[in-house]
Amino acid sequence: MQNIDLFKEQISSASSKKIVITTHHKPDADALGSSLALASYLKKKGHQVNVITPSDYPVFLHWMKGNDEVINYEDPGQLERAEKLIAEAEIIFCLDFSCLSRLQKMEGSVRQSKAFMVNIDHHQEPEDFADFSYCSTDAAATCELMYDLMVKVGDRDLIDKDIAECLYSGIMTDTGGFRHPNTTKNVHLVTAELIDLGADNSKIARLIYDTYSVNRLKFLGFALTRRLTILPELNTAYIAISKKDLRKYQSQTGDTEGLVNYALSLDGIKVAALFTERKDGVKISFRSAEDVSVNKFAAKYFNGGGHKNASGGTSNVPLEETIERFKELIKENKQILFNQLELVDEK
Ligand code: 5GP
Ligand code: MN
Repeated sequence: MQNIDLFKEQISSASSKKIVITTHHKPDADALGSSLALASYLKKKGHQVNVITPSDYPVFLHWMKGNDEVINYEDPGQLERAEKLIAEAEIIFCLDFSCLSRLQKMEGSVRQSKAFMVNIDHHQEPEDFADFSYCSTDAAATCELMYDLMVKVGDRDLIDKDIAECLYSGIMTDTGGFRHPNTTKNVHLVTAELIDLGADNSKIARLIYDTYSVNRLKFLGFALTRRLTILPELNTAYIAISKKDLRKYQSQTGDTEGLVNYALSLDGIKVAALFTERKDGVKISFRSAEDVSVNKFAAKYFNGGGHKNASGGTSNVPLEETIERFKELIKENKQILFNQLELVDEK
């Protein structure tokens, strides 16, 4: 945490600034919700604000206020405009990620920028790239930190229903619907404030969790019946999805969201993984229960990171090989993972 006055001065309404807000590749509700909430807020303060995402994001987030103006860096028709906005920005906000590599193709342009850099985030081990950071791993969501920051700078009265609903979404999803161990007293207090400010909590839950396409629901059934492997002796379960599977069910961005949680919902399972074969490698989601932590495992072996019980990473070897490597690493590290000791070096 740094001097809040420095931040307050940067975003003061005294002069209108060119601001870019960005977040991690394939934004989730916390990433997009915090970005759009901040955009609405800074516009109210008189700034010129653009949200640029490094990729597209799930359709179940499209209801958020400001969605129509989001620039997708991966859309060739929007690239030139995105580059211009990044180059001209006076302030760049990096939300819900801790290392610039998570911007993927956008990383270079953001690194080159001379803008005042702000990082607001709740992931472990932040890269030191920001001029002002408001980061805490104690926060369940970036949206929780965003609410806290808006209140700290004395702008609670600028939080309207639309902003409150964006912030509520990120807190709801990053706590797994208020179930994960990160669901603290502060989460409930902030959530109560957001409801007070107009957030319609049950409407948001339906918009995010209960708007499946028929294909997505059938894909879920297929994944659970045909692609789930349980390793009871290792207290581990995983789901592996190939490119072919994704094509067969005409999978859209967001269709695999939440899938990994089904593997973790099994009695006795403490480590769950989802492997998804994408065009640029295998994307992996890790989840764990109780004291087992997966973030170091993701960082050491799969070029990733995240939180203790929810992390992600990537693999550049084929799907089958990735799974074999994962199984081997879990076997070698079982005692270590479950007792939180140092992970072994790979053979
Ligand atoms: P998910 O599995 O839902 O994509 O991600 C779980 C958590 O891990 C999220 O907090 C996400 O930001 C983080 N995460 C996912 N993929 C990566 C990655 O490749 N690198 C890092 N550092 N974190 C990741
Ligand atoms: Mn988050």
